[in-house]
Amino acid sequence: MHTYAIGIDIGATNTVIGLVRDDARIVGKETLPTQQYTESKPYIADIVEAIRKVMADCGVEAIERVGIGSPNSSYETGCIEENTVNLRFKERIPICQMITEALGVPSALDNDANAAALGEMVYGGAKGMTNFIVYTLGTGVGSGIVIDGQVLRGVHGFAGELGHVIVDPRGRQCGCGRVGCLETYAAAGAICRNYLEAYAEMHGTEPTEEQKAITCKQVGELAAQGDKAALAAYDKTAYWLGFALANAVAFSEPEGIFLFGGPTQVGEILMKPLRKYFEENLLFLYKGKVKLELSHLPSNDAALLGSAALR
Ligand SMILES: [Zn+2]
Repeated sequence: MHTYAIGIDIGATNTVIGLVRDDARIVGKETLPTQQYTESKPYIADIVEAIRKVMADCGVEAIERVGIGSPNSSYETGCIEENTVNLRFKERIPICQMITEALGVPSALDNDANAAALGEMVYGGAKGMTNFIVYTLGTGVGSGIVIDGQVLRGVHGFAGELGHVIVDPRGRQCGCGRVGCLETYAAAGAICRNYLEAYAEMHGTEPTEEQKAITCKQVGELAAQGDKAALAAYDKTAYWLGFALANAVAFSEPEGIFLFGGPTQVGEILMKPLRKYFEENLLFLYKGKVKLELSHLPSNDAALLGSAALR
């Protein structure tokens, strides 16, 4: 007899709700367009509705718990905090309380990157590791830091925002209001920007409006075909990311660092230059000792599995 949990991954673009079996199989999924919601109440009501629907569709009558991975969330209070970067509703949302009241099961909340780290530890490449870091690359850049087998949460549950370490104080404007965060060089949109800058430099002309609408996935496809500007875009991201990862190693001496998210799906196009810049920038104490790998989880399911593991 299997038991089930719901994992919810709140992303800036989509909210994915997964029904997860105790053997880590995702038996059903629903998706809501996060960006279409400007208020939290109808958003939560639709999440509850989607949970009921996925359970009914799969013939599952009972779930043990709901785990939610969300940006700017507090594990302690179960609330998504005010003014979350990349979400349109700006008020504080007591999401755990709302979901528990609606469904009558316990729920837990953590940021999406911490959830991904738990997923990696329970089901993925970090099995058996007690010290590692997961970086999540997507609309933004997040991270989950595990030290001595525990997710590092910090005083208010906000530890591990390694996407917002400043790598270039005279660099690009970040969505958080500061300048030069890692996110502005390593998020999906940043890779597109790298591409457009490299294109302008190589061709001596500004890109067309059509070219400016390029997606990170398309930059990846161009890079796979050997396009020089696209390869330069990934090399630039690898440079800043390698340097930031090397600094993170000095902080917690992890056994491994795992990367996951859409922009990492280009594989070696990113990982080859990244390993080079990472090793170059590591303090001698750590050189050659830190594993740097792509997440071992199916990229679409890592956050869901991690969320479902929250309690
Ligand atoms: Zn920032």
